[in-house]
Amino acid sequence: MSLAANINWEKVDGLVPAIVQDNTSGQVLMLGYMNEAALDKTLASKKVTFWSRSKQRLWTKGETSGNVLNLKSIKLDCDEDTLLVKVDPVGPTCHLNTTTCFDSNTAQEGLVEQPALVFLHQLEQLLAERKDADPTSSYTASLYARGTKRISQKVGEEGVEVALAATSGDKKELICESADLLYHLIVLLQDQGLSLSDVTAKLQERHNK
Ligand code: AMP
Ligand code: ZN
Ligand code: ZN
Ligand code: ZN
Repeated sequence: MSLAANINWEKVDGLVPAIVQDNTSGQVLMLGYMNEAALDKTLASKKVTFWSRSKQRLWTKGETSGNVLNLKSIKLDCDEDTLLVKVDPVGPTCHLNTTTCFDSNTAQEGLVEQPALVFLHQLEQLLAERKDADPTSSYTASLYARGTKRISQKVGEEGVEVALAATSGDKKELICESADLLYHLIVLLQDQGLSLSDVTAKLQERHNK
């Protein structure tokens, strides 16, 4: 049976709530409502489309802003009255220019006060953008410009500094050096066309064995 046929439309009065979640970071981005036409259009176009109660029409998120939600998957909950929609968002999801509708910070300020892995993901995206930046404009951009050898060397150095800080018993230093290591590791992965999710996928694969 199709997804639509499994939804208890009667119970939801023809409008099923759809929780939108970032497929990579797990952040909850927004909540919208879908009627059957909106769900059909979402599935067919792979762009998340709602029934807008204020506009009283189908509304493809991003239709004017360009900040679309590219569909990755849709799941129905245990009692068939709520959808979980996983997406790859283009740009900020909220019309207030924030990553999520449940975050009053701007996309930039949103880098703080996030769960650790969400923050790392956002930092990674920021560092990825620096690849195209003018090398004189930022330290990260200059690192990419200096090439794989230099970045690798930094990862090696920071790794040693982490070890030294740990053996010296200086916890503050250990935190600083670990931050240096993580930052340079992300840059190195980016330089190699890889991402943190490639690493976590490997960890997960080992764990599942
Ligand atoms: P967009 O769909 O991004 O082109 O935005 C068009 C209009 O939809 C905006 O001007 C807002 O009124 C509304 N809107 C956009 N994003 C959201 C959102 N995440 N939640 C609620 N309303 C939104
Ligand atoms: Zn439910
Ligand atoms: Zn919003
Ligand atoms: Zn260091």
